[in-house]
Amino acid sequence: MNLENRIKQEIRNIPDFPKLGIQFKDITPLFYNQTLCSDMVNAFISGMDSKPDAIVGIESRGFLLGFLMANQLNIPFVLVRKAGKLPYKTISYEYDLEYGKSKIEMHEDALKSGWKVIIHDDLLATGGTAEASSHLVEQLGASVAGFNFVLSLDFLNGKNKLINHSTNIKCLAHY
Ligand code: AMP
Repeated sequence: MNLENRIKQEIRNIPDFPKLGIQFKDITPLFYNQTLCSDMVNAFISGMDSKPDAIVGIESRGFLLGFLMANQLNIPFVLVRKAGKLPYKTISYEYDLEYGKSKIEMHEDALKSGWKVIIHDDLLATGGTAEASSHLVEQLGASVAGFNFVLSLDFLNGKNKLINHSTNIKCLAHY
């Protein structure tokens, strides 16, 4: 079975979570399958055009495979967190959600100017969170070499928000 189908086989669909009308893609069953986790990390790494300077992972499910990937590549892993969670001095970016706003942060010394990074999260939905993360990367003088996601909800066209930052967008499984 190909990697996409092996991933989809493990994903648990939760209807109406966290609110009515949303079908939540629960990735936690993936982490019972160590071979699959290694294969996902290897697929991300082999899909990279060149070795990035860091992996930027988005809170919180982007920390899981993002860190594994960074460690395997022997490069730093950088955390993007919701406002108020990071302990040191931060830079922040506020962006619009369907209803209201959200704010994410990164430590002000997390990236060096000129670094090329990959932004990673578990799932690409509208692309708002990954796009906001790109602004943090760029505020520090670094650039986005690409995005990678385990899952993509293609019908939400999240890629459109990301292509101004990088057209290198890789997703292992599509819905
Ligand atoms: P977005 O900014 O709309 O692309 O949303 C992406 C973030 O929301 C990711 O961190 C996902 O983990 C989470 N997310 C959005 N929709 C879903 C969904 N249907 N199932 C699981 N996670 C989701």
